[in-house]
Amino acid sequence: MNKFLKDLIELNRLERKLKEFEPVERNIKAPLIKLENQRKALEERLEKLEEEIKNIKLKRSKNELLIAELKEKLKEIEEKQAKVKSEKEFKALQIEEELAREQIESANEEIERLEKILEQKEEEKAELKKELEKLEADITLQEVEVREKLEVIEKQKEEIYKNREKIISELNPKIYRFYEKIKRWAGITAVTPIRKQACSGCNMKINDKVFSEVLKGEEIVTCPHCGRVLYVEEEE
Ligand SMILES: [Zn+2]
Repeated sequence: MNKFLKDLIELNRLERKLKEFEPVERNIKAPLIKLENQRKALEERLEKLEEEIKNIKLKRSKNELLIAELKEKLKEIEEKQAKVKSEKEFKALQIEEELAREQIESANEEIERLEKILEQKEEEKAELKKELEKLEADITLQEVEVREKLEVIEKQKEEIYKNREKIISELNPKIYRFYEKIKRWAGITAVTPIRKQACSGCNMKINDKVFSEVLKGEEIVTCPHCGRVLYVEEEE
């Protein structure tokens, strides 16, 4: 067989092998990516929760401020009451006082309500943090496992890359450029076997003349229909 054709077949075989590692690598990384997505979701939940806690605390301090203001007002009312002269004035102040006390009471109730929610949210936050910590530990373990598995793959790939470089360095540059051009659209099927006298790249029948040329293997022959480099597998 033509040496360059042989090289092209081997080059293509190696590149196909490299391509086959892609789903393998994806599968290795998949459990880690799943955990990382879970972490992201947890972090988002935590962030939202912290924002809610911040808002509740803000509402609480607004109510506390309101109470302080109302207590100040009560003091003023008390001072005025000491100085009033008429029953009418006294009554008016009494109404004002009652109103202020009612407002204080409802602000206190609101604070109590907010604190209950706050307690619940803080518990939820602690729970989430615990979950996140556990997840972080799982991720660390998984990272080690993934790295180890990928290293094995990487070594295999390095070997293939080395062989690939060797073939390319020995290949006629014109033929290599020609192969690269086909690869641009055909990808890893740039070099493809004839099966049942049809191009396995485009599935079109190969006529007898072209077929016999390919069988001879003296030259690099391309499919007349699609342009892929053709060859016949040894068992054919
Ligand atoms: Zn074809």
